[in-house]
Amino acid sequence: MHHLAWPSRCPKSSCGRMRMSRGLTFRSGKGHWIPNLSRQCSHGSVELFVPPSPPLDPEKVKELQRFITLSKRVLVMTGAGISTESGIPDYRSEKVGLYARTDRRPIQHSDFVRSAPIRQRYWARNFVGWPQFSSHQPNPAHWALNKWEKLGKLHWLVTQNVDALHTKAGSQRLTELHGCMHRVLCLDCGEQTPRGLLQERFKALNPHWSAEVHGLAPDGDVFLSEEQVQSFQVPACIRCGGPLKPDVVFFGDTVNPDKVDFVHRRVKEADALLVVGSSLQVYSGYRFVLTARDKKLPIAILNIGPTRSDDLACLKLNARCGQLLPLIDPH
Ligand SMILES: [Zn+2]
Repeated sequence: MHHLAWPSRCPKSSCGRMRMSRGLTFRSGKGHWIPNLSRQCSHGSVELFVPPSPPLDPEKVKELQRFITLSKRVLVMTGAGISTESGIPDYRSEKVGLYARTDRRPIQHSDFVRSAPIRQRYWARNFVGWPQFSSHQPNPAHWALNKWEKLGKLHWLVTQNVDALHTKAGSQRLTELHGCMHRVLCLDCGEQTPRGLLQERFKALNPHWSAEVHGLAPDGDVFLSEEQVQSFQVPACIRCGGPLKPDVVFFGDTVNPDKVDFVHRRVKEADALLVVGSSLQVYSGYRFVLTARDKKLPIAILNIGPTRSDDLACLKLNARCGQLLPLIDPH
């Protein structure tokens, strides 16, 4: 199990607040339970999730500005690295994010589909983690890309994230390659429903259950006993009674081919590709870089750390997305 982020004191000595997201209950160092911290520490709670990076190089900022100025129809592809500054941990090898994981490994699509007990365990954890996960907000990088769209600079935005932060920032020319945790899909009839609605159904079916949860890590990991899992009631599709699944691509599943074709067409229409916050380890995103290369589009990559495509990029920037993108003038 990942324990990236148990709470700790804010590094600012004047700030006594714990580095936690809202609404969580956790055990303090003295073994006491601290209920319902209502607000996040304002001093760098994101530091928990953002990898260290060198100070911003003004020359690199100019180079990215030139890259954007020369482009009329830029296609931007984002990954987990754009959301770390919103407090969502980056699990780069796990393309569907926090809620796709069991204790030992990411959930496999085939396991979820074949096994009711596996779905029950998944949904019990997901139910507990949802209030925190759904409360994350866009950061300056998401807002900057929304501005690029409004000003006609952005041809299309493709994200590998399932956190809905681009949608929350108002982006519309957007493809969520791996789906979105904020939607639920019926495996039998395909009915799509909002995840928030399902939370209400969970609560109605399990009125006393949540009181027995033992603890919750800030990264959404949940500690549940077998007994708790087995007593958790999972609702079925309202329309047909079929099993429900988050509308995201789990490991072992593939992205809808129509969606892939759609993005390939957008890449071919673009005149530049900017990758933001992705190491491009997952093929479903990497293939669009290959298409851009084949079309001889200029490629820029903004990511802390090396990526699979550094050798294809004319510009590589090792910087925080939320620090750099707002500095770029999209005119
Ligand atoms: Zn159904």
